[in-house]
Amino acid sequence: MSKKIAFKTLGCRLNQFETDALLTDFYKAGYEIVGFNDRADVYVINTCTVTNQGDHKSRTAINQAVRKRGGSLVVVTGCMATSQKAYLEGRDDINYVVENPCKSRILQLVEAHFRGVIIQPESLPHDLFDFTTAEKSFHTRSMIKIQDGCDNFCSYCIVPYVRGRAVSRPVNDVLRHITEVTALGFKEVVLTGVNISRYDYNGTGFEKLIEKILALQGNFRLRISSLEPDGIGDHFADLFSHEKLCPHLHLCLQSGSDRILEKMKRTNTVRDYYAVIDRLLARHPLFNLTTDVIVGFPGETDSDFEETCRVVKDIGFSHVHTFKFSVRKGTKAEKMPDQIGENVKKQRSEIIRNISEENRKKYYTRFIGEKQTVLVEKVTRQGLARGYGEHYLPVEFRSGRTEHNYFAQVQVRAVVSGGKHLVLRGCIVCRDN
Ligand code: SF4
Repeated sequence: MSKKIAFKTLGCRLNQFETDALLTDFYKAGYEIVGFNDRADVYVINTCTVTNQGDHKSRTAINQAVRKRGGSLVVVTGCMATSQKAYLEGRDDINYVVENPCKSRILQLVEAHFRGVIIQPESLPHDLFDFTTAEKSFHTRSMIKIQDGCDNFCSYCIVPYVRGRAVSRPVNDVLRHITEVTALGFKEVVLTGVNISRYDYNGTGFEKLIEKILALQGNFRLRISSLEPDGIGDHFADLFSHEKLCPHLHLCLQSGSDRILEKMKRTNTVRDYYAVIDRLLARHPLFNLTTDVIVGFPGETDSDFEETCRVVKDIGFSHVHTFKFSVRKGTKAEKMPDQIGENVKKQRSEIIRNISEENRKKYYTRFIGEKQTVLVEKVTRQGLARGYGEHYLPVEFRSGRTEHNYFAQVQVRAVVSGGKHLVLRGCIVCRDN
C-alpha cells in the first residue's frame, strides 16, 4: 500500500512554489497526497517566520502534526527551521528539521528514513533552485523561482537572516524551465523569489531577463509576483507593451511616510515609488497595483499614518495586504524606541483595510465594458467558467465547455459579489485553445 503524505504551507508564494515541487516529488514517487487534517505517514510543515503571526501559525501546524503523530514522521522546513533551529531540533517529537538550502531533497531524506537510514539534513546537497516542476494537475499557473535571499536588510525584516544573501538563478536555467513548463501545457508563468527586482546573473538584470522570457515561443503569459520598487529601471514600464506580460504588480510600499521609510531602512522614498507607478499608469491607465503596508512601525505618529492613508487612497491600490508591525528578534527594529501599542496597530490596520475595500470597488467598476483575457481555471456545476484576467482580477462567464486551462476573451458586464470577494462577470467574445 502506498504511503500517505500531508503538507502544510505557511507564508509567501516562494514557500508555496517550493511545497508544490515537493508535493510533485512525492506524488511521482508513488505517495498518496492527503489533507493536513487526515491521517498520514509523513507530515511536512513548510514554515514562515516573517511575522509573529507566521510564527504562531507555524507552531500551531507543527503541534497539530505532532498530536496526530503515533508513528508518523514529522518534518519541519522553511524559514523557522533556521530562525528557531535549536528549539526545533531540541524537540523529540520532530524527526527532521530541514533548512531552506536542503529543502529540495526532502524526498531523499524521507525515503532513506523508511529504509532505516538516518540522514543528517545538513549533509544533503545544498541547492536553492533544484526544485522539480510542479505537476500540472495541481495548478493552472506555474511558478518559476528566479532568485533567493536579499541584501537589503530592511530594519524590520528577518528574511535576509533566514533566507541568506541574494542569489540569482542562471539565465539559461530560468529559460529552460519556462520552455519545459509551457511545453507541458502551462499557460501562465509566475516569476517568484525574495527580491526579484534585484535579479542579476553575470550582468543580466531583471529587465533583460524579462525580455528574454518574453521572446520565448509558446502560448503563455507572464506574471511578475511581489516586487520591491528599488531595482526598477526607466525601461521597465515599456516591457508591459508586450502582450504576454500581465499588467499587474504587487509593488511593496510599506509606508507612505518618508520618515518611516527611512527608519525602515527602505532604499526608496515615496517620490521614487511614485516615479515607478507614474510610468506604468501613463502607459496602462488600468494597470493593477496591489501592495503591502506595515502599520504601527516604531515611532509611527498619527501624521505618518495619515500620510500612508493618503498615498494608499491616491494610488488606488486594488488590494492592500496590511501587516501590523511585529518585532522580529535580531532585527534593528527590535531595539527601536517608541514601540506602538497593539490597540493602535489594530485600529490603523482596520482603517487601511477599509480604504483598500473602497479602492477595490472603484477599481473593479472601471472594468465594466472592458475586455479581459481569462485563463479558465475551473468550471462550476452550474456551467460558470472561472479564472483570472490579465490584470489578475477574478472573472466568471457562462461557458459551453467543461474543460479548463484555455484562454477566453470576455467582455465584462457587471461586478458581482463572489462570497468574500468581488468578481467581474461577463460574456465570452472568443476563445483560444
Ligand atoms: S527587501 Fe526588505 S522587506 Fe523585502 S525581503 Fe529584503 S529585507 Fe525583507
